[in-house]
This record gives sequence, C-alpha cells and structure tokens, in this order.
Amino acid sequence: MRKIAVLTSGGDAPGMNAAIRSAVRKAIYENIEVYIVSHGFNGLIHNNIKRADLGDVGDIIHRGGTALYSARSEEFKTLAGRQKAADNLKALGIEGLIVIGGDGSYAGADKLQELGINTVGVPATIDNDIFGTDVTIGYDTALNTIVDMIDRIRDTATSHERTFIIEVMGRDSGELALNAGLAAGAETIFIPERNTKMSDVAERIQAGLDRGKKHSLIVVAEGVMSAEYCSTELAKYIKIETRISVLGHIQRGGKPSAGDRVLGSRLGAYAVELLLLGRSGVGAGVSRNELTATEFSYVHVQNKQYDNSIYQLSKELSI
Ligand code: ATP
Repeated sequence: MRKIAVLTSGGDAPGMNAAIRSAVRKAIYENIEVYIVSHGFNGLIHNNIKRADLGDVGDIIHRGGTALYSARSEEFKTLAGRQKAADNLKALGIEGLIVIGGDGSYAGADKLQELGINTVGVPATIDNDIFGTDVTIGYDTALNTIVDMIDRIRDTATSHERTFIIEVMGRDSGELALNAGLAAGAETIFIPERNTKMSDVAERIQAGLDRGKKHSLIVVAEGVMSAEYCSTELAKYIKIETRISVLGHIQRGGKPSAGDRVLGSRLGAYAVELLLLGRSGVGAGVSRNELTATEFSYVHVQNKQYDNSIYQLSKELSI
C-alpha cells in the first residue's frame, strides 16, 4: 500500500487530534503518502482530500475537537454517495482509509470496503460504547469534565441543602453516568441498561433525610429521561426541593486528557500498521493494555456490556 487517507466522522471527541497526528506521522515515517480529508464522509464525496505533510498536524495534539472537522453525511448512506467517495479516493490512487469516529462511522467504513477501499476504524466517542476496545478516545476527558462539573454542583447542593439532578450524555450507554456518578459520590445513578424504580430512589433519599443528610446528588443518563422529567416523577414520591442541571455540550469539548492523547497516539499509529499488514474491515482497540483489531462485523452485533459491579458498588457506598 502506497497511499492512505485519514478522516474524522460523527460526534467530535477529545483526543481525535492526537489520533490524526499519529496516523499522519506514522504513515510518513513508513514512507507512505498520506492524505487528510476534511468534514468526514462528506469530504470524501466532495473531494476535500489533500496531501498531508508533517506540519499539517503540528500544534494540534493538545486541542479538543477535530482539526479535520466532522460531519454527519446522509449522502454517504446511499450507494451513489459512497461510490462517489470511493471513486474520488481511487482517482488519487488511495487504497486505504482510516476512519476515526463512533459506531455509525464504523458502519460507513464497513460499507466503503465493499467498493474496494481498505478501511480501518479508530474508536473515538465520549460514550465508550464501541465493542472491541476497553476504552474509546474521548471518554477519559469527558468523564473528568463531568466529575469536575458535579463537584461544583455538590458545593451548592451542600451549601443550600438541596437535591440536585444532573443530566449527562448517554443515549444508549450509561458508561459516563455510571462512572461519573461513582467518582462524584452520587446517591443515585440512572442508566439505560438498568431499570431503577423511582419509589426506591425516594425511599433512599428519605432514609438519608431521616439520619440528618440534607442534600443528595442524582445522575441521570439522557437516554433514560431528562433531568426535568426525573424531578417531576420524584416529586410524586417525596416532598423535597430539587434543582436540575443539564450539562449538555460542555461534556464533549475541551483539552484532551493525557490518557486520551496517549490512546489517540497509540491507536492512530496502529491503524496505519493494520493497513500496511493488508488488514481491512477492522476496528483498532486496546484490551488489557494490548493493541487489538476487531472485525467490524463483530463490532456491529456485539453490545459492550456495562459493569454491574460498578453500579452495585456505587449503591453500597451511597447508603
Ligand atoms: P457518535 O457515536 O459520536 O454519534 P458516530 O460515528 O456513531 O459518532 P453517526 O452520526 O452515527 O456518528 O455516523 C457518522 C456518519 O457515518 C453518518 O453521518 C454517515 O455518513 C455514516 N454512516 C452511519 N451509518 C451508516 C450506514 N449504515 N451506512 C453508511 N454510512 C453510515
């Protein structure tokens, strides 16, 4: 393989830049021509593809978001769109593509290989919901951001003796809510993977009140319900004053943690190695600190399991 390209797709995640930089520089180190594509799959369709040099990825490792911009492309979901994308790559002689993104981006990369382009995925999403890797790029930074925000809310909750309901990201995955809840000492955590009864939550809050506890923190993943709905439902079981806080997009941005930069650097370079080994249709990952490659076909059908012991532990610690 003599020419490869790199793009970012789907939601941005801190550490994507480290992965871009690593893929580009590793390719140059291996004497391969490398191209950067801006605006994700849309950029492939519209030929936003340019040859990259070492300097093109300079001064980005410490920045949040993605220097290549990201996009959600409806056109790429059509065969005609993907054909245009593949033709544009082939016209430049590019045989391999590294797709840095979430599971949707992996689905796109999987379909592109049917058109003769070798593709390797690099898992980047704050949700940490991709099978085949213990952790995704962006998760560590987002988790730390959320815990920092909850710590601030805790100051107010304590000072004003109130219950706060904090809504965090996670449509289908409770990873962020669960681990942020544990790390921030939340009394209750709602995650999509588990059914938590509001009557039980009210009972626990009442038990806390009975022993003199005047404030509490509830973390709810957006996929379960909104913080507002949670507050309305809770009010049906217990008469306490609650305040809500929806963390929103502050969870996604920001300077990547050292952990995300290391992970991005390792996986970006590994994706290049996989392409050079002739691999295609796989997602790069880490498992027990070893680099791994998992077939897309497997990634699509497997759900990453949440760790029930963490849920149990957070319950035991917030009695
Ligand atoms: P995040 O987890 O942060 O949302 P993601 O990569 O899952 O990231 P998506 O919006 O689901 O984000 O997917 C990114 C892009 O991948 C889509 O806009 C689309 O262009 C492409 N894509 C997703 N699913 C498919 C599919 N089934 N076939 C072809 N392309 C797809």
